[in-house]
Amino acid sequence: MSSESSVAVQPQAFQHQPHDGDCACPIHRNRQQDPFTAPLGLPFSNHVHVESIPQQWAVDIYDEHHGYMGGSDLHNANFTHHGLFYQNNLTGAITWRYPPFSLKKLHFDTDGELMPQPYTESDFEKLPPEMEYQARDLFEDISEGDVGESVVLEGDKFAEANRICIGVKMANLASCSLAASQETFVDSEACPDSVEYLITFVRADFEGSMIKALRTKGWQCLGWSIPKQASNRDYKAIRDRYKWVFACPVETVREQAMLSDWR
Ligand SMILES: [Zn+2]
Repeated sequence: MSSESSVAVQPQAFQHQPHDGDCACPIHRNRQQDPFTAPLGLPFSNHVHVESIPQQWAVDIYDEHHGYMGGSDLHNANFTHHGLFYQNNLTGAITWRYPPFSLKKLHFDTDGELMPQPYTESDFEKLPPEMEYQARDLFEDISEGDVGESVVLEGDKFAEANRICIGVKMANLASCSLAASQETFVDSEACPDSVEYLITFVRADFEGSMIKALRTKGWQCLGWSIPKQASNRDYKAIRDRYKWVFACPVETVREQAMLSDWR
């Protein structure tokens, strides 16, 4: 694979869309220069925090900086919008919302731990070639026999991190911010008492470092979602994409010290 094509499928900064010149979003407006960011290797988690921000701020940030989803199509069923701050400067946004499904089946192993969905050979064969390799790597060893119990849960047991968007170029800030955001969210009144799992969908061609980062922060890749167009909504190009489905038990978020060693 040439370095050019590997850059194309693995953007260096997760869901970061640089702005060209003037940007009027809340991160960049009224500033002489971009907010300071830490170079790779410098520990920075102590300098990251999240706060609720108005929906309009989140919309403006997504419009300018989200790689593939604007702010204008932001769903209204949101719990809260988090601003992501580095050294008290706004650098991005995350939106927590109701999940896009009413029921979801989860699988647990014989120890009661959340586990990926078992897939069959024909499931792998149906994937686009560029995804099949990684899907096999992640899921080929998992079979029906590993499942201790499968449970169908209603949508109100889930909260989705619907957008994760960083408006500056800084390695690992997206995943570190998500860790800070999930801790803040589950402890806040914005998180309904019914919520037992956080869930998020990562575009399959964007996996890169985010998959590894999520895994170390309590998230489990459960499988992939198959692109489909919803008949009752406007056409959105994003629904044509395969996405990895990640979930994280709220219990795990509360138990872990998530922000220990971000660099
Ligand atoms: Zn901006």
